[in-house]
Amino acid sequence: MTPDRLDRFARHIVLPEVGAMGQARLAASHVVLIGMGGIGSPALQYLAGAGVSRLTLIDDDVVEASNLQRQTIYTEADIGKAKAEAAAAWVRAFDPALAVIAHVTRIARDNAADLIADADVVLDGCDNFATRLAVSDACVKAGVPLTSAALGRFQGQVANFAGHREGEACYRCFVGDAFDAEDCDTCADLGVLGAMVGMVGAFGAMAAMRVLLEGVSTLGDPQWGQLHVLDGLKPSLRAMRIARDPECNGCGPTL
Ligand SMILES: [Zn+2]
Repeated sequence: MTPDRLDRFARHIVLPEVGAMGQARLAASHVVLIGMGGIGSPALQYLAGAGVSRLTLIDDDVVEASNLQRQTIYTEADIGKAKAEAAAAWVRAFDPALAVIAHVTRIARDNAADLIADADVVLDGCDNFATRLAVSDACVKAGVPLTSAALGRFQGQVANFAGHREGEACYRCFVGDAFDAEDCDTCADLGVLGAMVGMVGAFGAMAAMRVLLEGVSTLGDPQWGQLHVLDGLKPSLRAMRIARDPECNGCGPTL
């Protein structure tokens, strides 16, 4: 690492839980972010801030005025622009040393395998179950870990999944098949508090870092299948274990 990079990441390097080895790993990592909205924005800020050197950003939406209340990387000048491209522009301005690719597309069953192919971890902060399940199934098949971060009103859920590994659950083990056909984009109807979704996005970034640092430094304990549930109203945080479903259509024996 060059002196200016050492200086930039000095507060990580001095942390025993990350260290120089951990920072070097982050700087050699590729994260695919799905959904550049309320979760993806702060997650991207912290992952780019951590020096994750390759970032692939996937979103087919455009920035709207009503996004600015919580989607922290966008400004009024971005309204009408594709979110993936505006987010990539943010990364380039923030740290030109990072490589960023924008895909203005909806990730689905037909393109998921290509889009996540060489990721070290996929962080899914998208807004619907059909996409989440397609992404999860593609991650299991490709052997790519998945960080899932979601928010429903004041309840946040963050977990790391490794359904490709023996005995570990995938995201589909957790939610089942019930939502496959539905689009659950409910923010417009139910509302969402900006700071709450920001907390979930930051938590998701930290969960993804735990995956990247596995085997490198002590923060690298991915806690596979452990679902962290944030209740923003109390507020409180609890964890529960997601068991692998032997009949799962995502990671089960039918694959
Ligand atoms: Zn499964």
